[in-house]
Amino acid sequence: EEITHILAAGEVVERPASCLKEVIENSIDAGASLIDIKLEKGGIKKIEVYDNGKGIHSDDIEYVFERHTTSKIKSVDDIFKITTMGFRGEALCAISSVSKVTLISRHYEQEQGCKVEVEGGKVLSKTIYPFEKGTKITIEDLFYNTPARLKFLKSPSTEQKYCIEVVEKISICYPEISFRMQVDNKRQLFTPGDSKVESAIASVFGSEILKNLIDFSHQEKGLKVWGFFVNPVLSKSTRSGYHFYVNRRFIRSKLLSTCIDEAFKNSILTGRFPIVFLFIEINPVDIDVNVHPAKLEIKFRDERYVYNTVYKTVSSALQSEKM
Ligand code: ADP
Ligand code: MG
Repeated sequence: EEITHILAAGEVVERPASCLKEVIENSIDAGASLIDIKLEKGGIKKIEVYDNGKGIHSDDIEYVFERHTTSKIKSVDDIFKITTMGFRGEALCAISSVSKVTLISRHYEQEQGCKVEVEGGKVLSKTIYPFEKGTKITIEDLFYNTPARLKFLKSPSTEQKYCIEVVEKISICYPEISFRMQVDNKRQLFTPGDSKVESAIASVFGSEILKNLIDFSHQEKGLKVWGFFVNPVLSKSTRSGYHFYVNRRFIRSKLLSTCIDEAFKNSILTGRFPIVFLFIEINPVDIDVNVHPAKLEIKFRDERYVYNTVYKTVSSALQSEKM
């Protein structure tokens, strides 16, 4: 049983950044408007995430670490129309089996909070704990009991970079949430939570970027494509300047990268890439999010349709910008 958990953990939690992504997604699913993140030693020593969301009921709190406990899917049908970030009930089980977790939470309908300590998948304690509101999860000593995995991690500064990237990417598609991030006690990021994508982009990239953002938008049956780009002439960017979001999940996509490459082909031939923030809103039945354990990739049912729509939308914005 324990071995199974540790093996399963490998798929969901590869490194600090993947743990961080999972717990932030839980905070989003809990309806938080504020998410406060603290990181030590690239997240290897410590990841702490506080949110002001609805909290976890004290009757349920120790069960969130069991495999396939999710409060988010009630029927088989739900799997095909997923609207929450999490849905498999694997993340906390996986994380807690390879680290030391302290979970403190107060459910919005309860007077008091509750604190649970878990180490290597075993619940060590559960106590009543006074807590303002929401949930705080602390993940310490990741992979302390799986030395092979620990060895596989990169340097703390590289792991830190991955963690920061995760927070930057998520904060841009959740502009209604104020994200605060401290890295080794220094402020790293602060988004205002004013619901404007541009504000979050400015917090991440500096407000200078705003004057170079060109917007695009197009809507048709079951599909909306919108976003911003910075012209390659001004961006001085390489490929990592592509930010793709599908139904508010950031994803990697060969299909979309190729599509953007094609749309900006003339500049790219001269070695200059645009910065692109592409948001796709699509009927959940037209995608499959179950193709990648960390949900970083998805499958569009009709790839050609998505490709063509994105290409048309971005190209025509590029054309009209040139005029
Ligand atoms: P999933 O997100 O796929 O449901 P997780 O293992 O990530 O699975 O979380 C298990 C459960 O723990 C969630 O379904 C949710 O009920 C609860 N939970 C986890 N984090 C939070 C949080 N920050 N606020 C409220 N509930 C939470
Ligand atoms: Mg989750």
